Amino acid sequence: MKHKIVIAIYMRLSQDDGDSDRESNSIVNQRHFLYSYVEKHFENYDLLEFQDDGYTGANFLRPGISELLEKVKNGKVDCIIVKDLSRFSRDYIEIGAYLEQIFPFAGVRFIAVNDGYDSDRFKGNVAGMDTSFKNLLNDLYCKDISVKVKSALKMKKESGIYANGSCTFGYRKDPEDRHKLLIDEEEADIVRRIFQMTLDGISSHKIAQIFNAEGVRTPIEYKMERGIATMTPKGKRFEWSGSTICQMLRNVTYAGDIVYDKYETPEVSGKSRLKPRSEWKVFRDHHEAIIDRDTFEYIQKSRGVKKAVKHKRHPLIGKMECGYCHKSLKIEHTKNPYFFCGNKYVTQYKGCVERVNVQFLEEYLLFRLQEEAERQADIHSICMKVKNRIEQELELLYERKNQTEEKLKDLQTAQTEIYEEYVFKKRNKDDYIEEKRELKKQEECYMDLSDDLEKRIKTLQEMLSESGTDVYEYLQNRSLTELTQEVADRFVKRIVVYDEWNIEVEWNFSEKLPEEVREYQLAFL
Ligand SMILES: [Zn+2]
Repeated sequence: MKHKIVIAIYMRLSQDDGDSDRESNSIVNQRHFLYSYVEKHFENYDLLEFQDDGYTGANFLRPGISELLEKVKNGKVDCIIVKDLSRFSRDYIEIGAYLEQIFPFAGVRFIAVNDGYDSDRFKGNVAGMDTSFKNLLNDLYCKDISVKVKSALKMKKESGIYANGSCTFGYRKDPEDRHKLLIDEEEADIVRRIFQMTLDGISSHKIAQIFNAEGVRTPIEYKMERGIATMTPKGKRFEWSGSTICQMLRNVTYAGDIVYDKYETPEVSGKSRLKPRSEWKVFRDHHEAIIDRDTFEYIQKSRGVKKAVKHKRHPLIGKMECGYCHKSLKIEHTKNPYFFCGNKYVTQYKGCVERVNVQFLEEYLLFRLQEEAERQADIHSICMKVKNRIEQELELLYERKNQTEEKLKDLQTAQTEIYEEYVFKKRNKDDYIEEKRELKKQEECYMDLSDDLEKRIKTLQEMLSESGTDVYEYLQNRSLTELTQEVADRFVKRIVVYDEWNIEVEWNFSEKLPEEVREYQLAFL
């Protein structure tokens, strides 16, 4: 007997549906439409219903769809049917990921009735479909695979299909089959030259220097020319660097191989890290080589693996930049360690930072932080005074607000009373109208007052939650004797160095007295 299939219908309605669509897209109509479709086209099934009323299709943060996708994940659904694709999602990239990767992978059939789309029948053939939808599908099927879809991607990689988002310098993707790599001759010539120069004994740094002097375009510039990257150079222009050359010399893609699965992402930290080389997966002779294998391997051996002395990463690395070319400063671990701009060797820029003593810089920063702590201690004591004032004022305001509300209630009662007097003829009409007008006027005054009090209370409450004394609080029970990673990350945003006497520090705290506190201080103290 054939297994009973599980069909899930999904319905969605949101504010982003135009008014004219709202009627035809109402949940009731969608349900009716889908039920009759299922009845006509299927027999022997269980039907599940999922819906999101009042949710946008721009993302997947919808309870109904989450429940449905959870079922898909657990293999509890065989077929999903929607009225049209936009009910499922309006994010075309996500739609692509689901149609192209997730549903096929989970073995789920997907039908968008009005779009004439049925994954069982659709094999990249768009004949007979609605034009705009055709364009979308064409787009999806030509587009690079979304990196979000890790599992499907991994499967492809394991079967040796080239699935990297962008390809290595020197290659381009085959327009006929995006899983294939073809040599790009113009770029490949540069790669060959790099390997040849290395064979001739020229160092990576020197190669970068020569390329920059000759004006050889960098990989990123080639990419930008082809419209597959946009980037602005950190300095005046893009430059070759020794490390770019080194990376290229080590890249096995040039010998025809593909390496994948180099990184792993532990669930806990979520940050990807490099796996040991022995765990990498390699596909040999996957595509045409630019560098023959013997040459490639000779260069790997002759370059050897540099045994770098392990230095602890300095807390300021990555935060410091050269005031001239804006590249990050590097550190030289000599007896007197110093920061310098590594770019200067490559570009020969005259203005780049030559040497800033590490210890000097650390002491300078600690001194500035100490100063800041003192300044913030002053602010803190002002803040405490201001806070007291605010609290006192708040108390008064709450009291006045209560009184105002009482008064408003009284006025309401008074209005009811004069109305009754009028109805029972204890008061004549003119008298009533006059009195009522008077009471209304008073009521409006008190309502305005109530609004004003409300606003003032809100402002004051916000002031109370303002702190602005971060450094002071941090140093309350610590002493500042060392520039640790924690201190650096907490307080230092960026340091621009021109030379030892010309250093600009961008802090993570405001160097100004909080505006509200200042105003309040002027008004009260
Ligand atoms: Zn520089």
